[in-house]
Amino acid sequence: RLQDIRKVNDYEWEIPATYRSDMRASVRLFVTRRLLEASLEDLSLEQAINAATLPGVVDPVVVMPDMHQGYGFPIGGVAATRVSDGVVSPGAIGYDINCGVRLLASQIPYEQALPYLDNLASALNRYCPSGVGTEGEYRLSHEELDQVCRLGARWALKRGLASEEDLRRTEEGGCLEGADPNKVSHKAKERGRTQLGTLGAGNHFLEVDVIEQIFDPEAAQAMGLQEGNLALLIHCGSRGFGHQICTDYVQDLQSAVKKYGIHLPDRELVCAPINSPEGRDYLAAMRAAANYAFCNRQLLAHAARRAFEEVFAGKVRNWHLHQVYDIAHNMGKIETHIVNGKPLKVCVHRKGATRAFGPGFPELPEEYRHLGQPVLVPGSMGTASWVLIGTETSMQRSWGSTCHGAGRVLSRHKAKKEIRGERLRDELEKRGIHVRAGSMSGLAEEAPQAYKDVDEVVETVAGAGIARKVARLRPVAVIKG
Ligand code: 5GP
Ligand code: MN
Ligand code: MN
Repeated sequence: RLQDIRKVNDYEWEIPATYRSDMRASVRLFVTRRLLEASLEDLSLEQAINAATLPGVVDPVVVMPDMHQGYGFPIGGVAATRVSDGVVSPGAIGYDINCGVRLLASQIPYEQALPYLDNLASALNRYCPSGVGTEGEYRLSHEELDQVCRLGARWALKRGLASEEDLRRTEEGGCLEGADPNKVSHKAKERGRTQLGTLGAGNHFLEVDVIEQIFDPEAAQAMGLQEGNLALLIHCGSRGFGHQICTDYVQDLQSAVKKYGIHLPDRELVCAPINSPEGRDYLAAMRAAANYAFCNRQLLAHAARRAFEEVFAGKVRNWHLHQVYDIAHNMGKIETHIVNGKPLKVCVHRKGATRAFGPGFPELPEEYRHLGQPVLVPGSMGTASWVLIGTETSMQRSWGSTCHGAGRVLSRHKAKKEIRGERLRDELEKRGIHVRAGSMSGLAEEAPQAYKDVDEVVETVAGAGIARKVARLRPVAVIKG
């Protein structure tokens, strides 16, 4: 209830740990009053309160302005649990493990590209296989899949499908340590072997954008972002591989909940102690999926570069796409944060939330280290997307995290019922946004009206200080599975 939620300032609210007797931490909400009221429409706040009961959870559980209801744990939620005595929960990381976003940018001015945009949409669609359960050009043997699990995007580097710069400008260098393919089921591997390098369907996309406005010239320059030039967003994750791993562990860990006597307000928050065989196995498998996803986005970037070459070689002076950054928005990470003035090792669950480290962290690539971590926030295919940067405030207030998108207002089901895909496509095309979509009902599910106002979400995180604006992008071509 609204009256139980304390206002801290215009962009920050709090549900105290005393709200429900089983809470071990408070819930901190980064929202405006309007977004807060909207969030009462679904179960996201109740799910955040449930997350605040997890063993070893450290105050506070955080929710972002793009929050909405998810499996057991809100999308747009961040929960940190102590490594010493806390739990890890697959539902608090998400089914699409290391779903994330990559941004590439070019020196191609929009005006020069205009006559070729329709061809570009077709070429991107051709080079990047999409659709439900699609198989790609990389058919991996079991040994090769294990290598992908261990190496992540480095697997692509070894094959000449990535550059050192691509990897340096990827969270974790595109490779998490501690991945173990032996903790992954046969079924997951069978799905993973054929799906590498594919986009999938639904919410995943490739999008050509124009860099519309720069807000932070210094950061934009470091990222190679220039007003009026084309950029490319890739949104994808670990495909059927990660989904199967999450499915397997959500089931397997039910017995760990019993074994360790964990009381949960919602079965979907199934978890295991981080320092238990079950918890360690999940983390090792989760990291294998995360590495698969890093590699997947790298291969999609490679395919997109081939499409750009095909369309623009000889037409523009420089068609090269350079990597700006690649971030995860469904991930569990062991990190050290300052809690009550002392460093504490925690597992930060970010689900539909991104890392947003402030300046000075050795994890950041050298050219960004004095600025902070780049954050990529897709909005929708008909509105805008944003490039932000992490801040010191995000380190202090939100576990070094910020929002990941606009966030849904209409469920997929509702969107499909209320919106006609064909009409939406025609409207977008009329506005100069070229559309390629596997299915019209799938397109309707992802309609701009199905999402919150991304500008409002970004105003909120910027107002709260947990991210800073760098650039705003506007879509001109979108490829949906
Ligand atoms: P999720 O991973 O939670 O499904 O999606 C992340 C975010 O992507 C959504 O919250 C939404 O704001 C954004 N999004 C969905 N479809 C599109 C699209 O076609 N283009 C862009 N730029 N953003 C999108
Ligand atoms: Mn995603
Ligand atoms: Mn995803």
